[in-house]
Amino acid sequence: MTNPLFDALFVPLAGRHDPLLILPSGKTISGAGFLEMVARLAHVFIAAGVQPGDRIAAQVAKSPQALAAYGAAVATGAVFLPLNTGYRAAELDYFLGNATPRLLLCDSAEVAALAPLAARHGARVMTLDADGAGDLTRAAEGQPGTVRPVARGADDLAAILYTSGTTGRSKGAMLTHANLLSNAEALVDLWRFTDQDVLLHALPIYHTHGLFVACNVSLLSRGAMVWLPQFDAAEVMRLLPQATVMMGVPTFYTRLLADPELTRDSTAHMRLFVSGSAPLLAETHAAFAARTHYLILERYGMTETNMITSNPYDGARRAGTVGFPLPGVEVRLRAGGQEVAPGDVGGIEVRGPNVFAGYWQMPEKTAEDMTADGFFVTGDLGRLDDQGYLEIVGRQKDLVITGGLNVYPREVEEALDVVPGVLESAVIGLPHPDFGEAVFAVIVPLPGAAPQAAAVLAVIADQLARFKQPKAAVLVDALPRNAMGKVQKAALRATYAGWFSGG
Ligand code: AMP
Repeated sequence: MTNPLFDALFVPLAGRHDPLLILPSGKTISGAGFLEMVARLAHVFIAAGVQPGDRIAAQVAKSPQALAAYGAAVATGAVFLPLNTGYRAAELDYFLGNATPRLLLCDSAEVAALAPLAARHGARVMTLDADGAGDLTRAAEGQPGTVRPVARGADDLAAILYTSGTTGRSKGAMLTHANLLSNAEALVDLWRFTDQDVLLHALPIYHTHGLFVACNVSLLSRGAMVWLPQFDAAEVMRLLPQATVMMGVPTFYTRLLADPELTRDSTAHMRLFVSGSAPLLAETHAAFAARTHYLILERYGMTETNMITSNPYDGARRAGTVGFPLPGVEVRLRAGGQEVAPGDVGGIEVRGPNVFAGYWQMPEKTAEDMTADGFFVTGDLGRLDDQGYLEIVGRQKDLVITGGLNVYPREVEEALDVVPGVLESAVIGLPHPDFGEAVFAVIVPLPGAAPQAAAVLAVIADQLARFKQPKAAVLVDALPRNAMGKVQKAALRATYAGWFSGG
C-alpha cells in the first residue's frame, strides 16, 4: 500500500524528536508530534465521511494545524483545496459550487456567512481558527495518533489550487502526487536542501509557493521550518538567526532592504535566499547583494506547472532572468506555431512531470492551453539570453498592441525604472480612439523624490522607439499588489480605462 506524497513527506517524520516547526513564541513542534497531529486530523476527516478523491476545502489562517490539515487530506486520499484567506463569500460560493468539497474548513468568525453557502453545495463546515482552536482541534482530541494512509497512485490528485484568475473565472488546477513530488525532488537536488536546513517560512500556504515549493521541499529534505503566520520584516529579522534558507516574493526583499538591520553580519549564517512568483527587479538583486553579499536565486513557476526554471545554485545567478529549465522539464518558446530564434520573444511552453492534470471540470479550457504534443501554454512571454538563461518579458495578455505594433510592457518598465527619481513602474495598454491601445505608465517615485511625469518620459524618449513610449504617465505612491507581490494590472487598467477615450 503506497501513498506517494504521504510516504515521501510525512512518514519520515515518525520518530523525529527534533523540532520540525519553530514558532515565533519559541515553542517548537517535533516531527513526531506533528505527525500525530496529522494522524488525528485524518481520523476526524474519515469520521466526517471523507472518501478518497473527495475535496477538502480550507480557507483558514496559516497555523501548524492548517499545515497538518494538508497532511491529513493527503493521508485520507482526499484532494486538498486551500483557498486564499482574502476571498469573500461571493467568491467562496463559486469555489464551493465548482469543487463541491465534502468539507469546508474555515475560521469561526466566518461560519455565519459561509455555512449557508456550504449547505447549498453539500459541504460540511468545521472551524479552525488562527490560534488552532475550533471544531477540528476539538474533534481531534482523543483520536488515534497514528494513521494508515489510504493507497494512492502517482496520477491520483493530491490538490486543487485555484489560479488567481486575472482574466475570467478562476480555474482549479488539478495537481497529482507525481506532479508535486517530482517538482519537490528536483528542487531539493538543485537547491541542495538537507536535513540541516531551517527554512524561514513567511509565505501564505494557500498558494503554490508557500505550500508546495516551501513546505514540500522542506519536508522532503527532512529539514525544519521557522513558521511565521505572515511576513513582517521585524519578525523576519528577529528570527532569521535560526534559519539557513529563506524563500520569498520580491516584496519581501524590498521590505527587508528598508530595514537597517539587514547587513552582511545579520545574514552571515544563511545559505540561500530564493525569490519567485513575480519579477525581482535587477535593482533589488543588486541592492541585496551589496548589503548582504548574497545573490538572490530567482526561479519561475506557476500554479499549473509547479516550478519550471531556476537560476543555478553554483553557476552565475543572472539578475533579471529566471535561469534554466529544471531537470526533467522541457521549455520552448514559440510564436505563430514556430519555435523562435535565440534572442527573440516567444510564448513560453512547458512539458514534463511537473505539468498539472488539467483544470477541474473544464476540459475545454484545459484543451485550449495544451498543444497537440503535450506542452502547456503558460501565457508568459520569454526570451533566451546569449547563455540560454530565460528572461520573462511579460504576460501574453499584457502585450500592448498600439497602432498594430507590439509593445512588451516589461521593456518599457525596465527603461523607466532606472530613470533618476523612479522607484518602479507598471506599463499598461489603455483603449485609444486612434491607436486601438495606447501605452500608459504608472510610476512610483523614490521616497523623497518628486519627479514630473513628463520629465521622466523625456528621459526615455531617446532610448525607445516612439511607438513604445508611453503616451501619458501618472505618478502614484504605490502599485496595487496581491499577497504574492504581483502587480494587479487589471486594476490599473480599470482605474485609468477612460484616460484616452474620455470615458
Ligand atoms: P501563480 O500561478 O499565481 O504562481 O502565477 C504564476 C505567474 O507568476 C507566472 O505565469 C508568471 O507570470 C509569474 N511569475 C512567477 N515567477 C516569476 C518570476 N520569477 N519572474 C516573473 N514572473 C514570475
